[in-house]
Amino acid sequence: MTKNPAASLSLEQYEVWFLTGSQHLYGEVVLAQVASQSREIADALTASGVPVKLVWKPVLTDSDAIRRTALEANSADNVIGVTAWMHTFSPAKMWIQGLDALRKPLLHLHTQANVELPWADIDFDFMNLNQAAHGDREFGYIQARLGIPRKTVVGHVSSPAVQRQVAVWQRAAAGWAAVRGLKLTRFGDNMRNVAVTEGDKTEAELRLGVSVNTWSVNELADAVHAAPEAGVDALVAEYQELYDVAEELRPGARRHDSLRYGARIELGLRSFLEANGSAAFTTSFEDLGALRQLPGLAVQRLMADGYGFGAEGDWKTAILVRAAKVMGAGLPGGASLMEDYTYHLVPGAERILGAHMLEVCPSLTTSKARLEIHPLGIGGKEDPVRLVFDTDPGDGVVVALSDMRDRFRLVANAVEVVPLEQPLPNLPVARALWSPKPDFATSAAAWLTAGAAHHTVLSTQLGVEAFEDFAEMARTELLAIDDATTLRGFKKEIQWNQAYYKLAGGL
Ligand code: MN
Repeated sequence: MTKNPAASLSLEQYEVWFLTGSQHLYGEVVLAQVASQSREIADALTASGVPVKLVWKPVLTDSDAIRRTALEANSADNVIGVTAWMHTFSPAKMWIQGLDALRKPLLHLHTQANVELPWADIDFDFMNLNQAAHGDREFGYIQARLGIPRKTVVGHVSSPAVQRQVAVWQRAAAGWAAVRGLKLTRFGDNMRNVAVTEGDKTEAELRLGVSVNTWSVNELADAVHAAPEAGVDALVAEYQELYDVAEELRPGARRHDSLRYGARIELGLRSFLEANGSAAFTTSFEDLGALRQLPGLAVQRLMADGYGFGAEGDWKTAILVRAAKVMGAGLPGGASLMEDYTYHLVPGAERILGAHMLEVCPSLTTSKARLEIHPLGIGGKEDPVRLVFDTDPGDGVVVALSDMRDRFRLVANAVEVVPLEQPLPNLPVARALWSPKPDFATSAAAWLTAGAAHHTVLSTQLGVEAFEDFAEMARTELLAIDDATTLRGFKKEIQWNQAYYKLAGGL
């Protein structure tokens, strides 16, 4: 676990407020019933195991209370969103100022206390009390009228689909909270001549709340070379405990010094990022200064602790990795920088082999990774140490972030990570093999048409929906590629979005 609070993966620090709308039309007795039923709904969601603490708030019945609640939510850093339900008929004009002021993500929960109609007993008091069918439509209108970004979830809270959608949205809100205020440390600039890893850092701070700044890699090298020997000893012992360490790297063996240098990089990198309050970083193999190895093992281990990372100066992917780490916190699977590398093009069994030079996060495997050393053809430095493993099979998503000049674009592709058909004994890096949805040709053509990057975050903890929710909160375009995607529809969506985002962005 990291000692850097900025890089925390804990969701316990966060709250989502549960807001209930009503009015005074039916008297205090009805309002007391509204309060008790809305508490029951909030308690049921909590009992369903939603990942973020839900805090029930007193029923809102007038414009001033709603506006003040929105302002309180805005100013509380630990409040990552609000869930709103219009229990009875709640005239929506009293929500205008509050919704206009609200700067936190909003989930509109369209539910009601009862599952079945009480056929034999229903009277008009029941109709007036259990009136979300009416009140939430009024609320939907005013949200649409004001253009409020939100997720709408429909159904009784006992429904697993409702519980899942609320949980996914909470995770997205946690990721969004972690991105807002993220300090991203770059060592060196982008890889020369690469286009897609470039981007507008001023817009990143305005749109996403991420502060992206660069430090000389030699400042990092100074921290690496100042790391204490005792710290190196402790880390080497930890590596031997956690990983299957190659014979030649073990204490006393021929290349043990390379492993010690890898540990030294980890110590220096951690101390540098902790001092910066930074939870994401980039490196560049073209700018290693006095470092003797390209950071491989160290980057892998920091990602496993929750840090965002992008290679070759790719700060946009580092943001995505950090967001995915927080969004998936506590779920089985992991998240990592990934790169589409090479294809298996056997008809009907097409696969994408993803990897990177070194930096793939071991959270993607439950097996014991091998800690190895091999030459690296680029960078002109000493052979770097790295963890080598196969990613566990299962469902996942790959997501890329591109700068389209007038906006950022997220592209998310649902994938199935599959087992390797055969071992890869000569490939000296961690890897993942996947089959993209809806099929290889449609996925790749859509990806290329969207201008999505070769660097991604691969998450095996999350699906497309979490990133759709995240994109809504960030008011950022998201193009999803999944089982519902056709290339014809996808191309049109891109064209429509071009017009939409220009109009929505104003002049
Ligand atoms: Mn790369």
